[in-house]
Parts: sequence; C-alpha cells; structure tokens
Amino acid sequence: MIDFLNLKRVNAPHEAALQAAAARVIASGWYVLGQECDHFEVEFAAWCGVRHAIGVANGLDALHLILRAMEIGPGDEVIVPSNTFIATWLAVSQVGAVPVPVEPRPDTANLNPELVEAAITPRTRAILPVHLYGQTAEMAALRVIADRHGLKLIEDAAQAHGARHHGVRAGALGDAAGFSFYPGKNLGALGDGGAVTTNDDALAARLRQLRNYGSSRKYHHETIGVNSRLDELQAAMLRVKLPAMDTENAVRHRLAQRYLAGLADVNVGLPRTVEGCEPVWHLFVVRVAERARVQAALAERGITTLVHYPIACHEQQAYADRHWPALPIASALQHQVLSLPISPVHTEAEVDTVVAALTDIVGRRS
Ligand SMILES: *Cc1c(COP(=O)(O)O)cnc(C)c1O
Repeated sequence: MIDFLNLKRVNAPHEAALQAAAARVIASGWYVLGQECDHFEVEFAAWCGVRHAIGVANGLDALHLILRAMEIGPGDEVIVPSNTFIATWLAVSQVGAVPVPVEPRPDTANLNPELVEAAITPRTRAILPVHLYGQTAEMAALRVIADRHGLKLIEDAAQAHGARHHGVRAGALGDAAGFSFYPGKNLGALGDGGAVTTNDDALAARLRQLRNYGSSRKYHHETIGVNSRLDELQAAMLRVKLPAMDTENAVRHRLAQRYLAGLADVNVGLPRTVEGCEPVWHLFVVRVAERARVQAALAERGITTLVHYPIACHEQQAYADRHWPALPIASALQHQVLSLPISPVHTEAEVDTVVAALTDIVGRRS
C-alpha cells in the first residue's frame, strides 16, 4: 500500500518536539497573539528573506486580507489563474472584486504571462498568480507587466514554502504573499494557519490591524477588521517544523527527480520546470489520457492518487451565475491531471513502485 499523504508519518519525526512545544503553550496560560506567534513571524520572515510575516488564521484569509489592506474591492478586477484551487478566486470575491481568469501553460499548469496583458482593463488593480504545485509562477515576467500597468503583484504561495525564482524565495517575489499552513501543505500546522509576507512596512501594519478587529490598541478600532489570527498552539507547532523545511523539501526534490527520470519515456505528460525556478514539489502532477481508468488501475495495486483539481473554478456551481470566457486549457486539464504520491516520508523504492505500475498501465511512448 502506498498512501498519497500520511500526515501521521509526516509528523512522527517531530513528535517529541511537538509534544514539548504544546506543553510549553499549555503551561504559558497565553493562547492568542503572544510570544509563539511573535517568534514564528520573525523566523518565517527570515526564512523567506522578507521583512514582515503576519500570522493569520488560514491561507484564504491571508489572500483576502492582503486585498483588503490594498483597498481592492467592488468595481475592481484582479487577474487570477484559470487553473488553481478555488481559494485564490474566493479571496477576490470576498472583497467584492471580480476575478478575471487567465489560462495556464499546459506543461507547467501555471499562469501564462504571455496571456496576461490581454486581460488587463482600466478596472484591473492586481495580478494574483499562484505558485501551483510548488513551482513559482513566472514572476520576473509578471513583475514587468505589473509595473508597466501600475498593478499590485500578489503571490498565492500556499503550495510553495521555500520555492525559489532566480534565487529569491516565494514570499519575497511580489508586493505581498499569502501562505497556508493547512496540515497537508509543505509547512503544515496541526490545524489551520496562514501568514502574509511583505517588505512593505505600511501594508504590514494595516494587516496586523485588520487581522485583530481593526485594532492596533486594545479596544480602539480604526477600521472594520476581522478576527483572523494564528493561535499560539499552531505557531508553536510551526516553529518546530520550520527548521526541517529545507531538509524535507530536499527529499521531495529527490523523489521528483526520480519520477521524472523513471517516467521519461512513459505515456504521460510530465511537469516542466521553468528556467530559473526551483520548485518544492508540493504535488507531483502528471497528465494522462483516460484518467479514471488509470487512477482505478493504480488503486487496484494499492497506490492512492488524487486530482488537483477535478472541476475548474469557472465551472464550479459557486461561480455558475457569472459569464466566463471559454477557458479551454483549464477545462481540459481538469480531466487529465493526476497527482502521484510525494512527501518527505515517501521512499525512492515507493516511487519506483509507482513508476513501474504506471508504466505497466499506460505503456511507453512509441
Ligand atoms: C491551500 C490553498 C489555499 C488556501 O489555504 P487554506 O489555509 O486552506 O485557507 C489557497 N490557495 C492555494 C493555491 C492553496 O493550495
């Protein structure tokens, strides 16, 4: 049996340290916005190579609060990838702005910068690319476009803790970035968590206020804020796991290289790494024909796979009341993508087993 992602195994190497950190928080008598969150914010910001990290309740809130802090709202448009997890779009909808989808490159599944300018209108305020599957978006090209049109550039870095673009880490590539620490992400808490990173002092101050009832001083409320904080227990869990991130991402990298070599002449579409990008392989996603058959055949051999994502955002019921342009690449990808098992606790032998099974099921290219 090869699990897709076994969080018990992922967290097992950290168990003693997690227990000790939890005990420290319990004994402290202080559970929200205290020392653990303060320390984690400093440690995470340093690790990303950015001035500020602001802990929030989850990744969706991180993105939504960035847009709020930038005063993007009703009447505004934000460019988003057509191929992403729905949270990217929801963040835009939550502030009352309109998500404007742009198609990905089929072989990276990531936003195609060449298509962005055609989607810009006088109402466009920001570009919100996603570092999908752990590979950064093509940020250098997107920065040029954002600057040319006076737009904000916001990273959805929920899948890309530690990924680099021309040597610069995710979180330091845009005007601000939203991270998720959902348990299954590369840096996962033991519950929900998120953070915003930015080099902008004023934006960081606004975010600290917004996440805490719009207040910088207890019982003084400067704006209509929300309650979205990274609690002490989750911050303490993340402080245990952050120092292991580089080692864990290196394991993912080794496994991904083994998949790429093993599947080189097999009948699947492989993920392409863009020049200058160093992905952290949150997911290893191939494209296959007859996905349902392939997935079932792998399951029969005890190999669990998942689909990221089975329904494109514009085809979701939540967005059925809008008129969307045809988005043929996103609409095709949803039927082709298949995520193979990858995590810091998978082994090269397990990858070899998956490669052999997949080769047997779909055959080699003739
Ligand atoms: C997980 C994820 C989010 C949302 O994070 P949560 O912490 O679950 O709210 C946003 N964007 C992408 C691309 C994600 O994968």
